[in-house]
Amino acid sequence: MSFDELSAELNNRKQQFLYRQRRTLETPQQPLVEVDGREYLAFCSNDYLGLANHPEVISSFQNAANIYGVGGGASHLVNGHSKAHHDLEEALAEFTGRPRALLFSTGYMANLGAVNALLDKQDAVFEDRINHASLLDAGLLSGARFQRYLHNDVESLDKRLGKTEARRKLVVTDGVFSMDGDLADLPAISSVCEKHRAWLMVDDAHGFGCLGKSGGGCAELFDMSTDQLQVLVGTLGKGFGTAGAFVAGSEELVETLIQHARTYIYTTSMPPAVAAATLTSLKILQTENWRREKLETLIKQFRTGCEQIGLQLMDSPTPIQPILIGESDKALDMSQGLEQEGIFISAIRPPTVPQGSARLRVTLSAAHDEEQVNTLLNKLEKVARGSGII
Ligand SMILES: *Cc1c(COP(=O)(O)O)cnc(C)c1O
Repeated sequence: MSFDELSAELNNRKQQFLYRQRRTLETPQQPLVEVDGREYLAFCSNDYLGLANHPEVISSFQNAANIYGVGGGASHLVNGHSKAHHDLEEALAEFTGRPRALLFSTGYMANLGAVNALLDKQDAVFEDRINHASLLDAGLLSGARFQRYLHNDVESLDKRLGKTEARRKLVVTDGVFSMDGDLADLPAISSVCEKHRAWLMVDDAHGFGCLGKSGGGCAELFDMSTDQLQVLVGTLGKGFGTAGAFVAGSEELVETLIQHARTYIYTTSMPPAVAAATLTSLKILQTENWRREKLETLIKQFRTGCEQIGLQLMDSPTPIQPILIGESDKALDMSQGLEQEGIFISAIRPPTVPQGSARLRVTLSAAHDEEQVNTLLNKLEKVARGSGII
């Protein structure tokens, strides 16, 4: 092992246009951000509803910090489980129409914890090919027989489920696919699960807040009960605008997670003030339908505009509206060209997405307005022409 070895690998990555660099934000999440000292109109945040910087969410956070202090202090099973956490869990259970909900510190940990509490070597896990990395990692770590089925392809899943003799079968999918923006075909997937007596776990990180009449995500949109969708995961750092995650489901599921989910047991609880702020953002998200309606208007405006320009969009009804570019160098070029025009959108490249499918992952937020989306369309057209994409 040597520094030279690492250095050679890093250089290799640069040559393939896959090197990643962080950018430093000097403002809250909002349409106009300051990045490395320059102002940009940003279209790549997951703050879909504009709640990350909402005054009521901020004041709930501040008030709770005055009551509970800052740190969670210990894990939930020692003495880190505060009333703020408990109240949020009860509200999330009611919101999702599930008997119970359990908070985790991050979505990554919720996924790792849930899959690993449920499965071991005697079991089998079936994952959509383009599931989020945290779900794939969760399945691999569990030691269960790990299989990927073709993207959103129920026949491919059915075939695989038919061949296994594992003790437990768990099917795992994103609700909204994070890099493509399309929806999992949950009614069809859940009936295949039922046929094979498999359980279904859905990670709806990008659906909560955005989809369903009251923001209940895919489960609300497709009206999926606890018997059809046994393990429902939501994250709080996206539509909710705060941080953390939860798993919602039956009494038995949540008690099993409390006993066995290692990412729940062996970590400090999230700061109670984050839970209190989340309770406020949950109330706003449920009642302020205008945020979802506005998103819908902006999505329509953006898709119509792209069609007119001739840009290739994906089949997405959600605020995730990626523009498929293909090669990593081209995507990087586009992203840099847009930056010169004052638009901030990062290029998403392999291994986050499959080889040859680098893209600009445009995301819209209820905090954007129509004029800003117009600006985006104009700049996209200019830069895409300049790089020969259209
Ligand atoms: C962002 C994301 C996660 C991770 O959630 P964090 O709370 O950011 O750790 C998990 N699953 C999906 C589908 C995501 O998009």
